Amino acid sequence: MANPDLEIWAGMRAHLRGEHPSICRQWFDEIEPLGINAGVLHLRTATDVQRNYLMRQGQEAFDDAARAVSKYFLSVRFLGPHDEPEPIRGSVVPAARRAVGLDLHPDNGFENFVSGPGNRLAHAASVAVAGNPGKAYNPLFIHGGVGLGKTHLLQAICLQIAAERPDAVVYYTSCDDFLNQFMEAVQRGQMADFRHRFRDVDVLVIDDIHFLASRERSQEEFFHTFNALYQADKQLVLSSDERPEEIPQLEQRLVSRCQWGLVAEVEPPCFETRVAILKKKAKLRGLELPDDVAAHIAALIDTNIRELEGAITKVQVVAMIEGVPIDLALARKALGERVEVRVASGPSIPQIIEAVTDYYQVKTTDLQGRRRHRSVALPRQVCMYLAREQTLYSLEEIGGFFGGRDHTTVMHAIKTVKSKRLLDPELDALLRSLEQQLRTAPKPA
Ligand code: ADP
Ligand code: MG
Repeated sequence: MANPDLEIWAGMRAHLRGEHPSICRQWFDEIEPLGINAGVLHLRTATDVQRNYLMRQGQEAFDDAARAVSKYFLSVRFLGPHDEPEPIRGSVVPAARRAVGLDLHPDNGFENFVSGPGNRLAHAASVAVAGNPGKAYNPLFIHGGVGLGKTHLLQAICLQIAAERPDAVVYYTSCDDFLNQFMEAVQRGQMADFRHRFRDVDVLVIDDIHFLASRERSQEEFFHTFNALYQADKQLVLSSDERPEEIPQLEQRLVSRCQWGLVAEVEPPCFETRVAILKKKAKLRGLELPDDVAAHIAALIDTNIRELEGAITKVQVVAMIEGVPIDLALARKALGERVEVRVASGPSIPQIIEAVTDYYQVKTTDLQGRRRHRSVALPRQVCMYLAREQTLYSLEEIGGFFGGRDHTTVMHAIKTVKSKRLLDPELDALLRSLEQQLRTAPKPA
């Protein structure tokens, strides 16, 4: 194998893994070096989306790697599967793309999405829509908190449709971008163009639609866009941080349209799902994450998935700096044990248990036991609720204090108390007084 381009490319991959690990992806192995021409190394990706990712995030790192490995002033040009290598000097004009709007991220395919109890419906509905745009659920409306996978699902739908139906026009954008384009079109008197852009598509996907709130004219325009697409059996996919009826100042007629199809929620992932997501994310970067390390990270971070990814990066960087493989000791060192910090910032769980058992006149051992009788079930749920509210322990950790109950039990307890509290003034008063008492409790040493 004396092909110098192949050797340079192999050296570059090693260089990238060492110097620019955060942009490295497993599919780099499938990139094909086409050769060097006039000081430019041409690299061909398997998809346009991968090429766009590299053009956005990889240019500097790849140029750096090319120079470091070849020792020449070499630069890199990325080509998609259909781009012609450019023999003449000048910049590569990517082939016309059918998918317009904002760029999609190649990591956001269905193959990299972990489905679990918190997102099962949203995931299944997205798969159905991607397989049968305009026919399965229309519109598909996905809502939920920050970092729980809404954008990922929306982009997965776009990626799959673009891959399977090259003739379909898929428009993916954010609500922000929709609003900006609308304002620009109004100012420039180019509404016809604007309407053509958003209405002559097969699939319109708009992320974070809650930003439409309180924008009257934009809502009006979106309403007509919606109607035009819906009547033509074109697929609409929307995401938001709240369910349609809870988006403040969203006109009623839009609320009801958003509810015509399927409204699916994404909820925080459970422990097992978090472990699976960590493994997926690590694999994408070509990293080996031992089971106990994944479990450690998943137990430390139980809300936002973006933070899980941040934790992998931290561990990865420390491992690289120290030149050692990733193991539990290293992960602890990189991420710390947040448990101590948590305890110091509020009442301890034993203090919560003491306050609650005092009031209900039950024994601590009853709370930790298996009995489900009402006389202990409610106090136990109240404890879990207060622990979640007043400490930074994760759901798993709280479950651990109550006889090793799992996080779904804890989650259920919290939900139950939350809704009972709204309906039952007596319980609400009790909780208020416990909250007050715990706030002023002496801090544990
Ligand atoms: P949102 O749009 O809901 O704020 P994102 O879709 O941007 O959240 O997700 C944040 C990060 O978490 C992304 O990197 C995404 O790939 C990842 N993520 C979220 N949910 C999952 C999942 N179920 N499986 C794999 N990755 C996920
Ligand atoms: Mg998002």
